[in-house]
Amino acid sequence: MEQVIGHADLRRELAALAASPEPPHALLFAGPESTGRTVLARYLAMLLNCEVLHAPPAAGASLFGDALPPAAGAVGEPCGACRACRLILEGAHPDVITVAPGDTLCRPREGESHPAHPDSADIRICQVRGITELVARYPFEARTRVIIIDPADRLALYAAPALLKTLEEPPGHTVFVLITAAPDRLLETIVSRCRRIDVRPVARAEIEAGLLARGVEPRIAAEAAAAARGRPGRALDFVADPDLMGARSRILGRCAQVAAGGIPARFDYARSLAERWRGDQAAVRFELECWEAFWEERLRRAAAAGARQELAGLLEALRAIAAVREHLLANVQARAAFDLMLLRFPRVTLEPSTEEELPAHA
Ligand SMILES: [Zn+2]
Ligand SMILES: [Zn+2]
Repeated sequence: MEQVIGHADLRRELAALAASPEPPHALLFAGPESTGRTVLARYLAMLLNCEVLHAPPAAGASLFGDALPPAAGAVGEPCGACRACRLILEGAHPDVITVAPGDTLCRPREGESHPAHPDSADIRICQVRGITELVARYPFEARTRVIIIDPADRLALYAAPALLKTLEEPPGHTVFVLITAAPDRLLETIVSRCRRIDVRPVARAEIEAGLLARGVEPRIAAEAAAAARGRPGRALDFVADPDLMGARSRILGRCAQVAAGGIPARFDYARSLAERWRGDQAAVRFELECWEAFWEERLRRAAAAGARQELAGLLEALRAIAAVREHLLANVQARAAFDLMLLRFPRVTLEPSTEEELPAHA
C-alpha cells in the first residue's frame, strides 16, 4: 500500500475526523508543493471509503478470524487492499475526482459554443458547474465521494463564488479537499467554510526512512532525502529520475556563478528565466527550489560561523524567492518579477568548494 511519508500526526487527525459522527464536508490542505498534500487527500478518501474500516462488525469478524475489526467510531488505518482502497491508490475510483486547470468536469452552458480548454491555466466556472451537477447525484459506488480541487488558488474569478454556493449547502455524501500552497489567495469566505490542515515539511530522517521502506538503495535514499528539503514528493522525484540530481547540482553551480556576478549577468539570467517560464514552468519552479536550497545553505553556514552581517542579505534573498512565486501566481509580467528577484539577491564571493565544480573558472 502507498505509504504516506511522515505526517504521523496529520494521519491520526484525519483518521479521527473521518471516524467522527459528522466529518467536515470541506478541508483545506495548505502547504508547500510536494510535501504530501495530494497523498494525504487520497489517504483521507481511503479513510472515508475503506470497506474494511467501514465493514459492519459481524462481517469484519468473519473476514479476519480472530482479529477484531475496529469498533464503530474507532480510529483505524485504511487497509490498502479492498476494492475501494485499490481504486483510490490507482487513481481510478469513479467517485474520487481531482479537478485541476483543464477540461475535467467541464460543463458548458446549453447552446453555448465552448472550445475545449485542456491547457487552461485556471479552474473555470464551467468546471464548477460540472462539480455542482455531480454533487447533486449520489456517488456511483463510494460511501463518501471526494472531490479534490488542486490547486484551489487557481479557481478563476467567477468560479470561486460559484463553488462557494456548493460549500455553503453541502450534500451529505461528498467531501471537498482544497489544496493550495497560497491559502492567502483564496476567498476568505471559502477558507472559513473549510477545516484547515497545515501540511508542513517532513524531517529529513523521516523521508529517508520512507524511501528505505520502499526498497530504495541506502546511498540514494540518503542523497535524495538531503536534497528534498522536507518534501517527500521531491525525494521520490529524485529517486525516480537519477538525472534530476545531476540537474540539481548543475543548477546550484549556476546559482553560485550568478550570485557572484554583476548586474548585467543577473539581468541576462533573469531574461533566460523569463523565456523558459513561457515554455516550461515546472523547470523554472525547480530552479527556484534550487535557489532556495542555495541561499538556505549559505544561511546555515553564516549562522554557524556567527557571520551576523551576512544574515540580513541572505534572509532577503529567501524573501525575494517567496515574492517571485507570489508575483508569478498574480500574473505579474515574468521578466519584471525575475529582474526584481535578482536585484534583491546579495552579491556573494565564490567559495573554493563551489569553484571546484565549475569548469574553466578563471
Ligand atoms: Zn480498504
Ligand atoms: Zn469548459
